[in-house]
Amino acid sequence: MIQVAINGYGTIGKRVADAVRAQPDMEVVGVAKTRPNFEAETAVENGYPLYAAIEDRMDQFDDAGIELAGAVDELVATADVVVDACPSGIGADNVAMYREHDTPALLQGGEDADAAEVSFNARANFDETTGADVARVVSCNTTGLSRLVAPLQEEYGIEKVRATLVRRGGDPAQTGRGPINDILPNPVSLPSHHGPDVNTIFPDLAIDTLGLKVPATLMHTHSINVELESAPDADEVRELLESQSRTFVIDEHMAIDGAGKLKEYAQDVGRPRADIWENCIWGESITMEDNDCYLFQAIHQESDVVPENVDAVRAILGESDAAESIETTNEALGMGL
Ligand code: NAD
Repeated sequence: MIQVAINGYGTIGKRVADAVRAQPDMEVVGVAKTRPNFEAETAVENGYPLYAAIEDRMDQFDDAGIELAGAVDELVATADVVVDACPSGIGADNVAMYREHDTPALLQGGEDADAAEVSFNARANFDETTGADVARVVSCNTTGLSRLVAPLQEEYGIEKVRATLVRRGGDPAQTGRGPINDILPNPVSLPSHHGPDVNTIFPDLAIDTLGLKVPATLMHTHSINVELESAPDADEVRELLESQSRTFVIDEHMAIDGAGKLKEYAQDVGRPRADIWENCIWGESITMEDNDCYLFQAIHQESDVVPENVDAVRAILGESDAAESIETTNEALGMGL
């Protein structure tokens, strides 16, 4: 069993912990937290050995009556691999600790690309991560774009991607980002960081991205135009996207008109935390005009990177090939809507 440590048990970390625990070949050896808050309490209730991310704060956990298994250093030393899900910037600072213990580490998309040797997306470049000391699972938006680009590029070739990302202002629990009531071009100058980030996965892809932020918390929505090298009809493109294991093409009959209904649907089908691991593409939006493919997709920012982290664990350790890992992850999580 692969012994996985999770450093940073917040929005992404707790989801990755549960996804790792669901895998037949992995075990969560422990999770690390900075503070004895509600997430620390639920980590212990869920049976995860809890480690203090900051040694000086071990007393605070004692005072709150939360049992610790030790300090993060010990956790890193015992693990086969660490998933770092700390806030942006902190992951890069933690790399020295991971290297000191010779423990391979996965950073998240909030870190700069150069904090890691390689950026990871399971569908697009699984093999490039094998043997790395530090890899970065790209952000939610870059994951969503990469899953779309990979099959279109393989099947039809791509001249250029133009994507406008309407981004949620914050996650539901990020009260510090609100209250908000505005629509912001973000950044106001082009391109947004997403295009260059997609180039960490597809170095030669021509892609321009624009970003906006809106007062919403549920999901991001992408308005996509991909100029293809050939001109398939829209039904063909739809079939291709339907055949991908991490894209959900929303059929017209479902009457899902936005992120609100998508999240409602995820709750109805019993998804943990109403998570949606798949890209959600509106079937009726898939349109071809000559070589130009247009579509809308929604991306659940809190969870689409979760299966990617699971695959990245196998990739960095060289434990599996892409197809086998993706299948195992998908089956263990119950992927597919
Ligand atoms: P979060 O704030 O919800 O969780 C981070 C956790 O790390 C918190 O529990 C915090 O207390 C803890 N922490 C802070 N300092 C720490 C330290 N020194 N050691 C250990 N733990 C520490 O953040 P998040 O949304 O889970 O984001 C984590 C990473 O994932 C970031 O790089 C982010 O950009 C990326 N990401 C976030 C989203 C999203 O929408 N939330 C999506 C994709 C990728």
